[in-house]
This record gives sequence, C-alpha cells and structure tokens, in this order.
Amino acid sequence: MSLPACPKCQEAFTYEDGNLFVCPMCFHEWTAESQRLAEEALLVRDAHGNVLHAGDDVTVIRDLKLGRDIIKQGAKAKNIRILDSPVDGHDIEGRIDGFGAIYLKSSVVKK
Ligand SMILES: [Zn+2]
Repeated sequence: MSLPACPKCQEAFTYEDGNLFVCPMCFHEWTAESQRLAEEALLVRDAHGNVLHAGDDVTVIRDLKLGRDIIKQGAKAKNIRILDSPVDGHDIEGRIDGFGAIYLKSSVVKK
C-alpha cells in the first residue's frame, strides 16, 4: 500500500512513525484514522447514505425539472460516473432513457 499524500501540503513524501503519518516537508502529523475519515468524506453517497461507485445504476427518487421536461420519480440513471468536481452542485452523471447523459445530484437518487 502506498502512503497517502500530505493532506496539508499535498507532498508525497509521507512516512510512517508508529501509528502516525508524518510529512517531512511541512512536519504535519496525522493518523490513519483521520486519513480514513478524510477519504470517507470524499465518497459520494445516495439519498440513503449508500456509497455510489462509477458504473452503478441508480433510481431518481423525486421528480426533477430539466428545462421544460420533467424526469419522473423512479426513472433509472444507468452507468453513472462520479464527477471529479461537482458541476453546479451535481456530483454524478448518468444516462436516462429519453434524456441521454445528464448531471444529477447524488442526494436525489438511490441505488
Ligand atoms: Zn506536508
């Protein structure tokens, strides 16, 4: 397993000291636990808190306005992609029949 980059300065010279990770560049120290929590915070979750992964199929849980159209509750978004950086609050992209690939918010879908 490679060691995580420093969360403070992003340098990749981390070494382990007992149960601590230490960055020799800025002398930041952190624990595996805080690293785990930080990585968990980056995960994208659906409306029920389930972690979403690229390639998942999800269901829209409420009607969504899309311009003049409405994506109905229960519509399936297939083969989702997790966006690296959210676009206007939308953090996933999925393909919905009749609409094509559209951006969605993970908070309005479920696995
Ligand atoms: Zn650092």
